Amino acid sequence: MNEHLKIVIIGLDGASKTTVQLVGLKKDTIYDFISTIPPYTPPAWTSIFTGVNPAKHGIIGWQKIDINTLKTKLVTSHDVKYSRLSELLDTSGLKSIVINLPMTYPFSGIVNKNNTIIVSDWAAPEQTIYPKKLSQTYKEYLINPPHDWASHIENKKEYASLVKEYIQIRLNFYYELLEKEDWDLFFVVFSETDWFSHIYPHILEGKDKGLVAPIFKILYKFIQDAQETADITFVVSDHGFEIKNKVFYVNSALAKGGFISYSKTKLKLARLVNKVFPKSLLKRAVESSNAPSNILEATLNPEKTHAFMPPEPTTWGMYTKDASIKEKVKQYLQNFEEIKTIVESSKLYNGPHVDNLPSLFIIPAKGVEYSYKLSEKITEAKYMADHEIHGIFSVTGKGISEDINFSRLPTVYDIAPTILHIFGLPIPNDMDGRVLIEIFEEDSEFAKRKPKYVDPSYYEKRQEDEKLKKAIKNLKLKGKI
Ligand SMILES: [Zn+2]
Repeated sequence: MNEHLKIVIIGLDGASKTTVQLVGLKKDTIYDFISTIPPYTPPAWTSIFTGVNPAKHGIIGWQKIDINTLKTKLVTSHDVKYSRLSELLDTSGLKSIVINLPMTYPFSGIVNKNNTIIVSDWAAPEQTIYPKKLSQTYKEYLINPPHDWASHIENKKEYASLVKEYIQIRLNFYYELLEKEDWDLFFVVFSETDWFSHIYPHILEGKDKGLVAPIFKILYKFIQDAQETADITFVVSDHGFEIKNKVFYVNSALAKGGFISYSKTKLKLARLVNKVFPKSLLKRAVESSNAPSNILEATLNPEKTHAFMPPEPTTWGMYTKDASIKEKVKQYLQNFEEIKTIVESSKLYNGPHVDNLPSLFIIPAKGVEYSYKLSEKITEAKYMADHEIHGIFSVTGKGISEDINFSRLPTVYDIAPTILHIFGLPIPNDMDGRVLIEIFEEDSEFAKRKPKYVDPSYYEKRQEDEKLKKAIKNLKLKGKI
């Protein structure tokens, strides 16, 4: 096993090829990287971190939905149903540092973490670190991330300086972890690229670059320093971004087709509530129990609603009550030019949690953005930027080819198996991704060595052994054996 190899993964949330060149990466080192359907932060990062599809890890959005009552609940680390890469490494004695990865909060939802340091993600209700004993050391850096770009839309310049202030403090933190702590895998996600793409859509067209340049410059310096420290550095994004020029109100279209029934008075009331409570509150996990119910839940009549799109910004998922409705919805929606195609989730994904996913995914036509909101109109012209399926992939370091020819485009599922292979560890045979063998230099050890596959129980057994060892050690400490 290559115990002394150090691997860094830099995640740039929502970075497209244009954004990542603004950050500083050279054009010829950037490759396409295919996201999940939908190309959305929660399922995409979870797929990167597990190597499996949403029907196996169970995450498709920020919420889970009960189709019969229309009640929604925010998902947490406990809802991730497949072992994360850091957990597999942990059972093999390798150390990980995991920073700002969605669905890692609360830390109790991550089982194997004896050798792992975790810093909570931006959507967590508190900025904290695992193990707890480190919170004293790094307390001054655990500041709240300025993720709420939407509330700064009136003063865009101010937002950039707010983010700059934040990233300067946070980077000191990441440098300390990078340089002072012991690790084999260092995985950090920067959300700034996503926030900026939302608030400054023009940067995707190569305009307004001045606003983001100072932040991207310090970010790039960190990437370079991480590359110096690591043997191999991956830079990946969970999805890309594109300019949209039309909004399609999916639930309004469904209401028009008779699949949704709602009360206009209740809608007015719910809108009022939504105005009073900022969206950021709804997004933050713990407050959820006290947060006002979402606008759809408050408005729709559950008995007379047969299909709907859940209240999330970038989901393409559509929940339907039964199979006959699903067919009718498909036929009905197919007529809209804003929809490119409709796929059944069971044809797209396979795994034990497929029934918890939306039953249909409606793929938008280019430049179309979906909204779950109920509107008088079904479509509306609007200039904005939002998620797209082509993220970015870049890798440099020892044994890595400088000119990669991919036989198949890399996907979000390929990171976990590729990293296990680099570390010389076996890959659970139910992982959906593949080892990206094309990234290695032909004569490198990584290219010569064949990937090894094992039954998923291999890691479960190691974990059991680990627990047993710990229990014995504890008993010995207590003088009982
Ligand atoms: Zn994202």
